[in-house]
Amino acid sequence: MKVVTEIRAMQAEMIHQKKKGKSIGFVPTMGYLHEGHLTLVRNARKENDIVVMSIFVNPLQFGPTEDFAEYPRDFDRDCALAESEKVDYLFYPSVAEMYPNEPAVTVSVKDRSDVLCGKSRPGHFDGVATVITKLFHIVMPERAYFGKKDAQQVAVLEGLVSDFNFPVELVAVDIVREQDGLAKSSRNVNLLPDERQEAPILYKSLQAAHQAINEGERNPSSLIQLIDDMITNQSSGKIDYIGLLSYPQLKPLEELTGRIIIALAVKFSKVRLIDNVIIDID
Ligand code: AMP
Repeated sequence: MKVVTEIRAMQAEMIHQKKKGKSIGFVPTMGYLHEGHLTLVRNARKENDIVVMSIFVNPLQFGPTEDFAEYPRDFDRDCALAESEKVDYLFYPSVAEMYPNEPAVTVSVKDRSDVLCGKSRPGHFDGVATVITKLFHIVMPERAYFGKKDAQQVAVLEGLVSDFNFPVELVAVDIVREQDGLAKSSRNVNLLPDERQEAPILYKSLQAAHQAINEGERNPSSLIQLIDDMITNQSSGKIDYIGLLSYPQLKPLEELTGRIIIALAVKFSKVRLIDNVIIDID
């Protein structure tokens, strides 16, 4: 595995591989790797000749009061994990390498970004779309792998790829969970021990809503109330949002039909967790 820290060097490597006719699969991450990230890598490994992972905690997608400084980082451990999954290139730029100056041009997301995390984190998806645009120009992948854990991110990036005509196929991969159902996340280490015990209620409440839909419930407010009650009664977390929308359009639903997402964000003392389920309703 080659670790590359400079943009020019990374582009030169990728052009070299493309000249040899190699296909490139790309897994962008912010590091502190877990099974969720490694599942993306395994999917990329199956479908491409060359696998590139990036590790970059992107300051542009964090708000001024968010956890950029506290975001967990452990490059040596990440390197060993990436190597063990047969990643070919690990792109690991510094903030100065990616943003040597205040950016003159950034990407502004117009659709699918005014709800859920986009509403709670103004500018977040502009930061994501900007860094992904840069990374796609640096890595030039045929395919890029993203987790459905960040389902709104997938929906926004589908718009980016389509509107900016990136010759990249986006592959969305199912959420990987702990045994107790908590969605794996780099941020889980910042839960206090009691909060870690409580956190599986996020997924349990989503499953309860899914079950209620299966049993015929079609009222979005009742489903949201069910989730709200479970989380409020069984955890110390503060609900940031619970949303029930069409997917991937992320529009409010008059009636519950087609593909929908139920997504939530809950704040614990040092960390905000997200989770979702995507459900097809006949
Ligand atoms: P992050 O490092 O949190 O920015 O995540 C990098 C990529 O891994 C994103 O596409 C995430 O959606 C994906 N990812 C993170 N956690 C999970 C998970 N539990 N299951 C599947 N994919 C995940």
